[in-house]
Amino acid sequence: MPHLDLSRRHLIAATGALAASPFAAAVSPRSAFAKAPMLGRAEPTHYRFKLGGFEVTTIADADAFIDGPWPLIGSNAEQEAVDQLMRDNLLPADKYRPGFTPMLVNTGKELILFDTGNGERGFVPRPQGGWLAAQLAPAGFTPEQIDIVVLSHGHPDHIGGVMENGKPLFPKARYVTGAVDYDFWAGDKPTGDLAPFAALYRDYVVPGADKTTFLKPGDEVMPGIRAMAAYGHTPGHLAFDIESDGKRLVFWGDCAHHHVASLARPDWHCVFDVDKEQGAKTRSRMFDMVATDRVAVSAFHMPFPSIGYVERRKDGGYRWIPHSYQLDL
Ligand SMILES: [Zn+2]
Repeated sequence: MPHLDLSRRHLIAATGALAASPFAAAVSPRSAFAKAPMLGRAEPTHYRFKLGGFEVTTIADADAFIDGPWPLIGSNAEQEAVDQLMRDNLLPADKYRPGFTPMLVNTGKELILFDTGNGERGFVPRPQGGWLAAQLAPAGFTPEQIDIVVLSHGHPDHIGGVMENGKPLFPKARYVTGAVDYDFWAGDKPTGDLAPFAALYRDYVVPGADKTTFLKPGDEVMPGIRAMAAYGHTPGHLAFDIESDGKRLVFWGDCAHHHVASLARPDWHCVFDVDKEQGAKTRSRMFDMVATDRVAVSAFHMPFPSIGYVERRKDGGYRWIPHSYQLDL
């Protein structure tokens, strides 16, 4: 093998030179052949940018492949249509990796966490999910620093990080969530498949009710952060419009679950939506708004870091454009 011979000649020349140097004893010819160890896949777990006078950090709460997107996305469509869309976008048709991406907004006065990830009992169990508690420190935060925890809706992958070891993870925080969503999950309507979600809600969110502010659409979390109705995914699902010094970001919670399929066909039903028709209408309305306003989006289930923009396509669908540097200027 000519290549190996060449390496050998280089090696002999190199060790010959080293023999005369004071470092020769520390370098054996063997070390020149040592291979770097395989380290495994590595991905970033936090991402930070400025939004006017605010600083925004997104944190990865999970790294998990799930079966799909069909029929989780497009349960009202032919499987072949969803599979073909995946192939057209160079994606596998049988596996996908949604982001699970809580967001921290530091307003300079308060540190606000939007959704808490899976925690110990969420949709993606540990070790694949429930990372927020462990990922705060590498991102530069402690749980004690968090002043407000905003819950977009009551699903386990959004409320699961509220408690850790049976105690509130954020000891100094007050909570903010939608009044309609709270009444649904704390009430007796969730039955069947929804009953386990309601049980988690009763364990994790209801005990904090006396420290919770209940919003209706249009209400403010604080000046510059306003709730918007995004009903359908859950009965009281809220999105949030965040603005500082003329810069704007929409946290849309669970308006989309696949960065290609949900965007290309907002009419395709999402199996996680409690009201699938209303969820589809909300999705279309949200995509239309953020595409028209050309506004940045923090999108919980888009691939990490889950920040991007939405482009309207000529065929009536939409396309997710991941953030590159627009917000860093
Ligand atoms: Zn979710």
